[in-house]
Amino acid sequence: MASPLEGLRKVLALERTKKYNDAAVVGGLDSYLLRFVQDNGVERTHPISRVLQSLPPGGYRALHPIQRRRVIEQLQTASETGKGVFAKQIPPPAEETPPKDKIVQFPHKKVAARKPVAPKEPVRILGSLDSPISVLGVRPADAQRFRRLGVGTVRDILFHLPSRYHDYSEVRPISELQFGEEQTVVGTVFAAASRMIGRSRKGTEMVLSDHTGTLRVIWWGQTYVARRLKQGAKIALSGKVSEFRGRMQMENPEIEPLEDESLQSRRLVPVYPSTEGLFQKTMRTAARVAVDAFASHIVDALPASMRKKHELMAADEAIRQVHFPDDLETAERARDRLGFEELLYIELGVVRRRMDWQDAGGAPALALAQTQLDAFIGSLPFTLTSSQRTAISEVIDDVGEDTPMTRLLEGDVGSGKTVVAAAALLAAVASGHQGTIMAPTEILAEQHLRTFTRILQQNRENDGPQGPWFQAAAPGYVVLNPPYMEKPVRVALLTGSLKAAEKRDAQAAIAAGEVDIAIGTHALLQEGVSFGRLGLAVIDEQHRFGVEQRAALREKGGSPHVLVMTATPIPRTLALTVYGDLDITILNEMPPGRPPVKTYRVLPYRRQEAFEFVEKKIREGRQAFIICPLVEESSTVEAKAAVQEYQHLSRDVFPDRRLGLLHGRMPASEKELVMRAFRDGQVDILVSTAVVEVGVDVPNATVILIEGADRFGLSQLHQFRGRVRRSEDQAYCFLLSDSPSPESEERLAIMETVDNGFELAEHDLRLRGPGEYFGTRQSGLPDLRVAKLTDIEMIRATRDEATAILRRDPELAEPEHEKLGEGVRKLWDRLSSEVS
Ligand code: ADP
Ligand code: MG
Repeated sequence: MASPLEGLRKVLALERTKKYNDAAVVGGLDSYLLRFVQDNGVERTHPISRVLQSLPPGGYRALHPIQRRRVIEQLQTASETGKGVFAKQIPPPAEETPPKDKIVQFPHKKVAARKPVAPKEPVRILGSLDSPISVLGVRPADAQRFRRLGVGTVRDILFHLPSRYHDYSEVRPISELQFGEEQTVVGTVFAAASRMIGRSRKGTEMVLSDHTGTLRVIWWGQTYVARRLKQGAKIALSGKVSEFRGRMQMENPEIEPLEDESLQSRRLVPVYPSTEGLFQKTMRTAARVAVDAFASHIVDALPASMRKKHELMAADEAIRQVHFPDDLETAERARDRLGFEELLYIELGVVRRRMDWQDAGGAPALALAQTQLDAFIGSLPFTLTSSQRTAISEVIDDVGEDTPMTRLLEGDVGSGKTVVAAAALLAAVASGHQGTIMAPTEILAEQHLRTFTRILQQNRENDGPQGPWFQAAAPGYVVLNPPYMEKPVRVALLTGSLKAAEKRDAQAAIAAGEVDIAIGTHALLQEGVSFGRLGLAVIDEQHRFGVEQRAALREKGGSPHVLVMTATPIPRTLALTVYGDLDITILNEMPPGRPPVKTYRVLPYRRQEAFEFVEKKIREGRQAFIICPLVEESSTVEAKAAVQEYQHLSRDVFPDRRLGLLHGRMPASEKELVMRAFRDGQVDILVSTAVVEVGVDVPNATVILIEGADRFGLSQLHQFRGRVRRSEDQAYCFLLSDSPSPESEERLAIMETVDNGFELAEHDLRLRGPGEYFGTRQSGLPDLRVAKLTDIEMIRATRDEATAILRRDPELAEPEHEKLGEGVRKLWDRLSSEVS
């Protein structure tokens, strides 16, 4: 076998004949040399290494041909020395050896926890938990940065918890790294550069060395990382080790410069969520001082009996341990303790809200005679699914009581929630009360009006809001005549884009009690709208509204029953928290005869085929959606990207088709216009960002193509897909992604096979965590610092505690509960100031 040195010499000679144009090896000389050094364990002090270290940040490629020539010559000389290239067996230089007790020998075992560092002299600092962080010695410029993280006071810093820890009790020498595991390694930067890696991706490539070997490290897409890596600097990396062509490599690890003192003295070092310009070292120092001086000021909000029962740490100890833990297990227990408290506040909030509503009582008992209900069901153009039947009877039972109903109706897009709402609204009307249904967009409100018209007035099949009959109706409302109702049903539409006079008419009719059912948008919440005798409020697509809006609608008239509907499947854990104040009914089946959407992942090079498929369907008279990739920066950037995509598609891909564009930056009226054109078949392809309006019924659209599918959550993809599952015809969904990672491959594969929204939601929660799964702002849930919304045990426990406490002490007035009351108020105040 040819020696590696021989190979190197050949490459160098070739480069010379190619006039130093960096064409001797595919991928460039820089990559080649790094690989060479790594594969052969070339020592840092070897002449070859010295030459590499002398290269500028841009590497060989960045040099002028004259300089390149010199480098090649130097390398040739270096390669002639021939010895010491295989350094893997060479004993480590003394200064490179990490202290003995820090190396864990394989097989990998935890070192017994070192005694916690003895608390130093209790630190005395004048101030309190509410003092600004400057008392901790944080400089003004850093204080400014902390503020960006929402951290202003000592208390804030104590509750700004590490997202994780570097575990320096687990540092492994390079030679003992294992594939696939999350590990920390300490070494010296051998060489680093930003470059093209492989055929098409930019990134930073680095070789790290320690006394046992070298490791290739790559930061995909992150060319700027190279600048942070100074040759010869000692750093720690934490990340997963993967395999590339049989060699180990680390991808996108966290970097930690090792000048930080604390790393030498502690095993577990906190890593905090940070912001630009704010260094971990600064944050650690501030946290250290805050913990030493102020942790003892924290008053425990949990009653001692509760702590004992659930084996929870004291609050001050939890804060100490969560920042500077003795070991990972203790850190976990500390976190649990803080999470418990936080969940308890949430549960106290939702349980209390439920009690308030129910105790307020006084909801009108609404009844629909069985014969009327049967007649209504019999008159529908379809047969109800059995879960629709169950849902209707649950809802009718609920509204029959004078305790206000607070029920959530969950069901996949297209599962038929509207008809359940209609039955409940009829009960209100039959009992002489008003009902209202609020939708997130005008087009949805209009769609509800159409649906109601259709199902309550079968003989007026084609007479929608645009029809002549509608136009001629009484000012402010239309009159429907279901044969089974004793009186006509008067229905008003109230949306923002009505003319002022129309709005006034509708409002007046609603207030006067002339309208039986008011269908509308947020406009229903506006001042000036009040109901004469509101019996039932239905909120459609609940996840688009906050808790506050739910409450606002409720206040529009007495103490109505409330039914909220959502197509977002909610995992059990969230049902107990986010929607913890609601009873839940689930529509878990689709109307028969709607085949599941055939879903395919499409590799980038087959994109054209997917487009051709869309084209074919349009030729057959169908319509299609194309969803643009999610852009995280801002809605402005996203809008720009969408416009570009739209232009590209219109010009280059579907020049003969009519395309429409929908993005979040468009004025609402324009959005409505586009949606309407699509609904009415005047647009073939609707190009849209993630704002694609929920719930819109366009049965003729049977294809959806989702670009950048890997960036969306499963639940969201499922929502998109639901857009095309609207008829008996087979529908198709194509998932495109340009650079699928293994994780996103996994997620998209799930989409291909799983058709059940709940199952997908559970996967989503598992794979992405609740923050991603459920934007807290939308959900009406406070921003959680610690609690895990996936911990069903803890959620149950806190709910039980909350219920027990509130039963005994509804106002949290007992001294034992004083601190709890404060905590609840703080958490929920933060919430109401956030939801706008
Ligand atoms: P969503 O739950 O998404 O709000 P809709 O209530 O808008 O669903 O219903 C979707 C479509 O299915 C509507 O056109 C509706 O008329 C129809 N539909 C509802 N229930 C049934 C059923 N049991 N059988 C057939 N079609 C139904
Ligand atoms: Mg709907």
